[in-house]
Amino acid sequence: MPIASVNPATGETIATFEALGAADVEQKLRHAVSAFEINRGRSFADRAKRLRNVAALLEDRAPDLARTITLEMGKPLQAAIAEVRKCATVCRHYAKHAEAYLAPEKVSTDAQESYVRFDPLGVVLAVMPWNFPYWQVFRFAAPALMAGNVGLLKHASNVPQSALAIEDIIREGGFDGGEFQTLLIGSDQVAALLDDERVKAATLTGSEPAGASVASAAARRIKKSVLELGGSDPFVVMPSADLEAAVETAVKARIVSNGQSCIAAKRFIVHEEIADEFEKRFVAAMAALTVGDPMDEATDVGPLATPQIVDDLDKQVRESVAAGATLLLGGKRLRDRGNFYAPTVLRDIPPSAPVYAEETFGPVASIFRVADADSAVKMANVTTFGLGASVWTNDREEADRFIEQIESGQVFVNAMVASDPRMPFGGVKHSGFGRELGVYGIREFTNIKTVWIAKL
Ligand code: NAP
Repeated sequence: MPIASVNPATGETIATFEALGAADVEQKLRHAVSAFEINRGRSFADRAKRLRNVAALLEDRAPDLARTITLEMGKPLQAAIAEVRKCATVCRHYAKHAEAYLAPEKVSTDAQESYVRFDPLGVVLAVMPWNFPYWQVFRFAAPALMAGNVGLLKHASNVPQSALAIEDIIREGGFDGGEFQTLLIGSDQVAALLDDERVKAATLTGSEPAGASVASAAARRIKKSVLELGGSDPFVVMPSADLEAAVETAVKARIVSNGQSCIAAKRFIVHEEIADEFEKRFVAAMAALTVGDPMDEATDVGPLATPQIVDDLDKQVRESVAAGATLLLGGKRLRDRGNFYAPTVLRDIPPSAPVYAEETFGPVASIFRVADADSAVKMANVTTFGLGASVWTNDREEADRFIEQIESGQVFVNAMVASDPRMPFGGVKHSGFGRELGVYGIREFTNIKTVWIAKL
């Protein structure tokens, strides 16, 4: 894939970049190694001061940075501004809490003194996707830098300007010795980096094939990896739920980032008692969405990031209809230019239809009717994914059953799934392993070191 910014609303190429050659990558790697020596030696207070500067820069520049996000990957401008601001919150969160999260933990044993400490690992490679081009990076970078690590970023090839801007901001904030560097490289250059002894670990947010490739390359060299992969999140609505709130949130949860979010609600599993009403209101709300120029404040759904995503999504919809699914809304491309796809709703979906269990990366919703909570759990768990789940009920016992039995990294009751710096985020099954955010996230790339002092 060429490294280029191409406006998804128009198809116009804005900027192209040459991939770095081996000598440039080597220079950056050396720089990262020396930066680790600097960053590991800093106090938490020193790192926190720098990270707070980064947060302030993000807040000040949010509108400008967001414009580039929208130009490169097409999410509505207001959503892009919110994304940049959220990055400031994760910086402030770890600036405030990292020291406590990584404080040595005393353990009572037979030793005179025994405790666990959390030491940084060194250079961590981050392979990141375009759908939240800032958030995905900062939720790795903020804890990594606070833990004393340093980062190398291989960002998605369609968001190079965002990738470079992120490097600039972190440097300007005070991590100016190479603690966080962007490598403009293709995915074919990643394995060589993972082969290098100086790279100590890797994190990837993206698709299953990319995750499998990076995790196996890391494993061949006995390196830790964290994978944040795809999802086909269930959104379960039961009879006791507040239907109005459920429908309103269902639409929001489906179209977040133009439908291209790992934790977007994709499969709507509705109790048959309320299914007709849910379907009527949901289809009406999806039909009322404004699709168009993502720079326009009135736009709800912008273009998909690349022509390939439109092709893949359209194929999933067409094959599902051919397999017997009923199309209630949409099911087609929009406009002559740009990667626009109509908000789409399907029901009566047989297991052979792609949208039954696959991830749909765009504004396509699948509705399933179920007779009871048991069937809802079964339907929720039918996919190979296990990222998030949103359940709507006002029955505590029912909620507890969903919380316990749905196979996912997070369950949200009467709310849409979202990441929050205070809480761990990640998946099970094919959605990946390891956690980001919260106390668990910052400890992923540390050496959890046991210290046992028998007598001293
Ligand atoms: P992708 O193709 O896997 O790309 C993600 C990143 O991986 C890009 O930087 C890409 O580089 C790189 N990459 C691709 N193949 C690679 C390989 N074989 N070796 C090394 N690097 C490789 O993902 P996408 O389709 O753009 O993104 C959408 C996917 O990400 C969806 O499945 C979505 O659910 C998932 N996602 C998950 C989370 C989460 O937190 N769980 C968050 C966001 C997105 P190039 O651009 O150069 O190919």
